[in-house]
Amino acid sequence: MTSQPSPRPETSGTPTSAAAGTRLDPWLDAYADRTHGMRASEIRALFAVANRPEVVSLAGGMPFLDGLPLDSLAQVAAQVVAQRGLQALQYGSGQGDETLREQILEVMALEGISAHPDDVVVTTGSQQALDLVTRVFINPGDVVVAEAPSYVGALGVFRAYQADVVHVPIDEHGLIPAALEETLTSLAAAGRQTKFLYTVPNFHNPAGVSVSLERRPQIVEIARRHGVLVLEDNPYGLLGFDRDPWPALRSYDEDGVIYLGSFSKTFAPGYRVGWAVAPHAVREKLVLASESAILCPSNASQIAISSYLSTCDWRSQVKSYRELYRERRDAMVGALAEHLPEASWTVPDGGFYTWVRLPEGLDAKDMLPRAVTARVAYVPGTAFYFDGTGRDHMRLSFCYPTPERIREGVRRLASVVSAEREL
Ligand code: PMP
Repeated sequence: MTSQPSPRPETSGTPTSAAAGTRLDPWLDAYADRTHGMRASEIRALFAVANRPEVVSLAGGMPFLDGLPLDSLAQVAAQVVAQRGLQALQYGSGQGDETLREQILEVMALEGISAHPDDVVVTTGSQQALDLVTRVFINPGDVVVAEAPSYVGALGVFRAYQADVVHVPIDEHGLIPAALEETLTSLAAAGRQTKFLYTVPNFHNPAGVSVSLERRPQIVEIARRHGVLVLEDNPYGLLGFDRDPWPALRSYDEDGVIYLGSFSKTFAPGYRVGWAVAPHAVREKLVLASESAILCPSNASQIAISSYLSTCDWRSQVKSYRELYRERRDAMVGALAEHLPEASWTVPDGGFYTWVRLPEGLDAKDMLPRAVTARVAYVPGTAFYFDGTGRDHMRLSFCYPTPERIREGVRRLASVVSAEREL
């Protein structure tokens, strides 16, 4: 039996604003320091309203799965249990299923990565890989350098481990090498060790841009010269609309780059299978960290994905996603040009997102409740900055709604913006 602590008296302790808001939580004083850094992401808070059918959600990053061959996948799933049930339903290796790790090499070869199956660690989505890398490297107060803006889910992990995130600006060609050089130099001059550079080089979440071919080797070289590891997070790399995938940062430097991949966007997120490829010694630490967190990734999910890769035409599936999302991107940028010409936005050539800058003086975070009342949702830019800046931006996703709904959503958004300008 666990004994309950006596509830914290309303007047006791040092009154902090965090405490004042959560006084009813009798465990408040028991939480670890890191727990106070954990917050619900702005996206999560939105989900409840954004998922109402009358709201056009341009907020979430859910892939559009309706085109998946569900009948064939049902057969694959049934065969997994019928033919390999005893393995699929059993505990497995902490590093992940060996057959799947070999198949992952084929997927990564499309981005110029050559590796050995031993270099791969299978994780529960690439989100778990982000957690493991951060757990293995970050002490409270350590520096992570990350793009401005950065994926909200990565910032959440960095915050949970009490990292200090220093942002480096990007432009339409991705992370700016000169800015990276300057940031790493001034951090070193201030005696602060940067533990890693976090980057999403392809079809960035939220900015939609990609690091140009010219900049890729430059970024790797700068990081190497400063002795900084690169954490390359790449769930969207195969989803280019008009071009083949570009070489991964990892293809320029096997010793200095940890690469994260995922089946969430190129196949389906429900199986929760991602992976990390890391230098040998780091890989061993990641496996230990993963074993202590989850013992092993799900065998059932790994075998289902492995069967899908070997029995279905996954390359055609990726191609059909690319076509589907290209059509939606066209609908999004077309509608923005028609209805919101006073804003500016990135035109992504792959992935799920466009990054919109509002007309001068508007605040995407303040405006959000009025947008939801007008039945359209987005993610305010503040979610993607460690310090909560970015109020003049919003992320619009074009992955899930149909082109027609996207156009309707942008129309609604434009009317909210114009009402806002008259306020
Ligand atoms: N990294 C980025 C940049 C993402 O956008 C996402 C999902 N939105 C993830 C990692 C996590 O994906 P998963 O855990 O489903 O592989």
